[in-house]
Amino acid sequence: SHPVYGHIDGPIVIIGFGSIGKGTLPLIQRHFDYDADKLLVIDPNPDTHLFLSQHGIRHEEIAITKENYREVLTRLFPGKCGFCVNLSVDTSSLDLMKLCRELGVLYIDTVAEPWAGFYFDTENNADRTNYALRQKVRDEKAANPGGTTAVNCCGANPGMVSWFVKEALLTLARDTGRAVDTPTDRAGWAALMQSLGVKGVHIAERDTQARRLPRPRGTFVNTWSVEGFISEGFQPAELGWGTHETWFPENGHRQDSGCLAGIWLDRPGAITRVHTWCPTPGPQFGFLVTHNEAISISDYYTVGDAAAPEFRPTCHYAYHPCDDAVLSLHEMFGSGRQQSTHEILDVDEIVEGIDELGVLLYGHEKNALWFGSRLSNAETRKLAPYQNATGLQVTSAVLAGMVWALENPEAGIVETDEMDHIRCLEVQRPYLGPVEAHYTDWTPLQDRWEHFPEDIDESDPWQFRNVLAT
Ligand code: NAD
Repeated sequence: SHPVYGHIDGPIVIIGFGSIGKGTLPLIQRHFDYDADKLLVIDPNPDTHLFLSQHGIRHEEIAITKENYREVLTRLFPGKCGFCVNLSVDTSSLDLMKLCRELGVLYIDTVAEPWAGFYFDTENNADRTNYALRQKVRDEKAANPGGTTAVNCCGANPGMVSWFVKEALLTLARDTGRAVDTPTDRAGWAALMQSLGVKGVHIAERDTQARRLPRPRGTFVNTWSVEGFISEGFQPAELGWGTHETWFPENGHRQDSGCLAGIWLDRPGAITRVHTWCPTPGPQFGFLVTHNEAISISDYYTVGDAAAPEFRPTCHYAYHPCDDAVLSLHEMFGSGRQQSTHEILDVDEIVEGIDELGVLLYGHEKNALWFGSRLSNAETRKLAPYQNATGLQVTSAVLAGMVWALENPEAGIVETDEMDHIRCLEVQRPYLGPVEAHYTDWTPLQDRWEHFPEDIDESDPWQFRNVLAT
């Protein structure tokens, strides 16, 4: 009963079989026609291999490294065809996509990941930003346009949320009585956002998934990669910086080369709080964790010159992870050391909760619009195996990205803002639970603690100065 979206010619190599790799496998099995003998999983963790053996999946227990990636992938992709699905940590997305394009192999990943060591061994904070990681991919795209498709950063966020921004813009246009045709290029989308008066976008997420057991002290609990979350949480807080901002954070730094769409703060993202809003909790704190989409969305919707734009939206992540992850962060930053035990909440131990992940477009004539997926763990269990709600929002985006790449095999290096959002959401939507639009009259000036003076700007509610919690 599941649609088969196309035939994958040659090997399919999945690099990394953690929470996302394991959840992506059944979607590939369902939705593509391919030679099962040519599917291979690479992961250094011996714990993954029992599962793979039991399911008759070929696998190699190795880590992809800077030293071996060329030899391993050249051996595994001998015939100028196939698909490399990179769902690992500690492997350079840029190096892997460059090699895959050289080999004529389609490529997809969910993050612009660096080689091991980058997140903690790089001394200069400006070099540890996602801006720096993304800019290298953009520079490679500019230097070598076109060619074999490599889809970069195609998970839930970064990824699906860029498709939601477009859907939200069309919703807002409709609801404010404008007759607009769906734009067909970047300039058209940017002009639409500008004409609607959108000042910025929060990637506003609330994860309420919980298990019955209280979090054991000394254990970092999350609903997806603990390693990935700790790495990004320790990067500097980062955001796309909009043209409506009149104030500049004291610990803020601008960039001096590249797309110039983002700034970073001299503070880890996972202890930088922002005021934000999601449908279930209403107003809430989120963490300003750096993400590729904060920069890519601000860049994509820029009107005019990069250095002195006429319009650019502010954009950042505002993430309330599951409550156990909030406690884990509190413990980790308080103690100054990472927990040695990591746990990802399993679909079968979660007793309640949803992952509510959407985009909050703010500052326009209807104040703010949240558009996103409100997928519950209970529904996830019925939709696809081996993953919780967070996982399915990511893996279904990988599926959509793979379908798009197969249908557009010579599109070069792309990120999700540059893909056909209608086609991608068509593929992904059956896995997203309720996808809803919610308007709110909430602004960051509301629901504050009035007993203490704050450094806020009452003349414009949607200034980042008001969003950033002190
Ligand atoms: P995980 O920690 O559960 O699994 C990572 C896997 O990679 C592990 O099985 C590990 O053994 C393997 N691995 C580690 N080093 C490797 C190497 N050198 N070569 C090959 N495999 C290696 O992580 P996850 O939750 O499955 O996430 C996977 C990736 O997806 C991470 O980079 C994460 O940041 C990203 N992600 C993106 C999104 C999104 O929405 N864009 C969401 C969740 C996760």
